[in-house]
Amino acid sequence: MSAFNEERVLSVHHWTERLFTFSTTREKSLRFSNGHFTMIGLRVNDKPLLRAYSIVSPNHEEHLEFLSIKVADGPLTSRLQHVKVGDTIIVGRKPTGTLLIDYLLPGKRLYMLSTGTGLAPFMSIIRDPATYEKFEQIVLVHGVRQVDELAYHDLVVNHLPKDEFLGDLISNQLFYYPTVTRECYRNMGRITDLIENGKMFADLKLPALDPSQDRVMLCGSPAMLRDLKQMLESTGFLEGSTAKPGDFVIERAFVES
Ligand SMILES: Cc1cc2nc3c(=O)[nH]c(=O)nc-3n(C[C@H](O)[C@H](O)[C@H](O)COP(=O)(O)OP(=O)(O)OC[C@H]3O[C@@H](n4cnc5c(N)ncnc54)[C@H](O)[C@@H]3O)c2cc1C
Repeated sequence: MSAFNEERVLSVHHWTERLFTFSTTREKSLRFSNGHFTMIGLRVNDKPLLRAYSIVSPNHEEHLEFLSIKVADGPLTSRLQHVKVGDTIIVGRKPTGTLLIDYLLPGKRLYMLSTGTGLAPFMSIIRDPATYEKFEQIVLVHGVRQVDELAYHDLVVNHLPKDEFLGDLISNQLFYYPTVTRECYRNMGRITDLIENGKMFADLKLPALDPSQDRVMLCGSPAMLRDLKQMLESTGFLEGSTAKPGDFVIERAFVES
């Protein structure tokens, strides 16, 4: 059996010149956990050109959705950004990753800290009822440079709270904290700074991070991950893995070349 499925593009939405979303059909046999990533791509000169992508859509949905950067000279995304409804995408059959609530110890609160496309895996986790069973409060933080890069803002703020099945859980337990670094916005600054100076907690009316009750997932740029990992470890948080659950888990949103 091939390691890949061929899926058809169902919709494409361009958020900005650097960011877009697309959805595809989903082979029924494809199983994944919310928070997983898989290899996806295009056939170029009859060979698969693949990159790791987090799955935005929750595993109970019939289709798959992805959030993608557009890198002008990127081997995959210079092509992928032109996909249209009806085109074919290759999707790996073996989703994997560390951003699973199973790899976190029980706690009161779950923080999901993301920058840029690092939001993607958290979009599936916030639509998983198990997340709301395991944690009393869920805090989704998304840091971007410009306001229009706040992908899914409208979905989180206006649509999910009214969702037929998840609406009550989301309205009662989810805190959403979008923050912008290069334009005026209601929350401004880097996530690291907003944690260090306490502003994020003051705005959310929540206590500062505490390893005895908080659990954290990180997905963002290599610099963001380095800074936040250091900060968490210096306050007593222990990193978890697929082998041993811990207080925080990490996934790279991309690799710097
Ligand atoms: C575990 C994992 C999950 C990932 N999930 C996603 C995802 O959900 N969405 C997504 O768009 N990308 C994701 N990526 C990055 C993705 O695999 C590719 O790097 C990206 O699609 C660009 O591919 P490319 O071939 O065009 O350029 P590449 O040669 O892969 O990248 C060129 C350069 O572009 C920059 N870059 C690449 N991806 C990003 C990004 N997402 N944000 C900002 N700068 C970037 C980096 O500096 C990189 O060195 C993920 C990477 C990993 C390791």
